[in-house]
Amino acid sequence: MMRRIAIPAIVVAMALGVLLFKTEPQSSEARQAHKDAHPSNLQQFFSAHTAEEANGKSVLLISIDTLRPDHLGMYGYTRNTSPHMDAFAKNGTVFTRAYSTAPLTTPSIVSMLTGFTPYRHGVRLLWQPMDTDTITVADHLHRAGYETAAVVSNIVLGNEASRIGERFAFYDESVDEPEANRPDMLERNASRTTDAAIRWLKNRRDTGQPFFLWVHYIDPHGPYDAPSDAPIDFAHDSPVPVELERIAEYVRDGELNDGAEYVDRYDEEIAYTDREVGRLLAAFDALDLSQPPLTIITSDHGENMMEGHKYFSHGYDVNDAVIHIPLIVRHPSIEPGANSRVTSITDITPTILEFVGLPVPPKLDGTDLVRNRSDKCVYAEGLDSGGSGGLHRTLISTDTKTVVQHGRSNEPRDRWQFDLKLDPQAQKRLDIPESSAAFERLCDLIRSDRDPGGRPTHLANDKHSHGPVAGNADAKSLRALRSLGYVE
Ligand SMILES: [Zn+2]
Repeated sequence: MMRRIAIPAIVVAMALGVLLFKTEPQSSEARQAHKDAHPSNLQQFFSAHTAEEANGKSVLLISIDTLRPDHLGMYGYTRNTSPHMDAFAKNGTVFTRAYSTAPLTTPSIVSMLTGFTPYRHGVRLLWQPMDTDTITVADHLHRAGYETAAVVSNIVLGNEASRIGERFAFYDESVDEPEANRPDMLERNASRTTDAAIRWLKNRRDTGQPFFLWVHYIDPHGPYDAPSDAPIDFAHDSPVPVELERIAEYVRDGELNDGAEYVDRYDEEIAYTDREVGRLLAAFDALDLSQPPLTIITSDHGENMMEGHKYFSHGYDVNDAVIHIPLIVRHPSIEPGANSRVTSITDITPTILEFVGLPVPPKLDGTDLVRNRSDKCVYAEGLDSGGSGGLHRTLISTDTKTVVQHGRSNEPRDRWQFDLKLDPQAQKRLDIPESSAAFERLCDLIRSDRDPGGRPTHLANDKHSHGPVAGNADAKSLRALRSLGYVE
């Protein structure tokens, strides 16, 4: 019944020849390698594996927007923000050094669903549609007979904005409910997101068919305004006054300049989302499945608290506050416990494919989280919308975090490194030694990037050419983007 098609040796050999991270090519070769490594070439691999049969195990993928791991109990937070996810994590593998590829929803989510870094899948901005020839994990699973479904509650993930929806047989992107106190702001809160996911679950016609369900919650994203029935009302002892201008405008509550109050509210959003994730997990636990689904909980990026150049925001750089993410993987067949290996959001797609018994395309940036035990180096980038039009790029290995800042000329403007053995929080900038291989690799990567300055060439002259949003959003969408702080 089960059938596996072996990956032809020639495909493996070609893939090994073009892996940028493995071969460290020089610039002209790197350019050619990059061209060869474009995800569209995976179409050949995809076509060669038609109607592949998987093992029939189902998958539940939960992503929570703007969620910092260090505000969760399982990552050591002392506040009770995440009792349901903590209970879930007790039987799961908790990856303590997981990173997003970008501090921005769309590039990061496309990495999660494809296994590619942004310079490979090409999505650098919000409201920038994914290439039609990019293959997602949902495409693979659909081809293998899975029921694919998603419930997403961030407008930038709507199909018109991202073209992600058409990769799923069912895509619920309804976010047109005005928020109680701000009728201009469209949203769907965690309760309604969970309701929608459970509704899909109950309406499934063929319960024998394996499924892949992805649920994306928005609630910890600013402005922080948990509903009145949120489980916990956090309070602090002493105010932490901050300059009002340092607080991102869309998060600011009038003249409120007590940073600790914003942290309380952010934590209340997490506790509220946690309750709703708990309700979703309970609905799956109650299912009469022959075996539980592989369940993954993660985030698209973090959030500056009182850090970075703008407090209570994200999207600009590659500081740990915005690219360090939670990542928990659970299934009875997977050994639980903490895992401190450096991992990436790009690892999620190969992990799912491997788990369901489908061949993993040989050119992905990510690797299987369960079987891969070797140390690796992960990549992330941050579009600087502070007016420079530049980009921060980083390579993070077990011991070091190397950062390069550059502009549209692609020439490095600044560079620094962190010694993660002595400084695990990556706080103290050090000079980069001349012999740094990571720096050379970043320079090669910058030179071979098909989008100079990290901004897609075809969007270089759009009306938001210095911001993180592509210029094709309509007026209604722009209003909603403004309410999330993405457009000024
Ligand atoms: Zn996001």
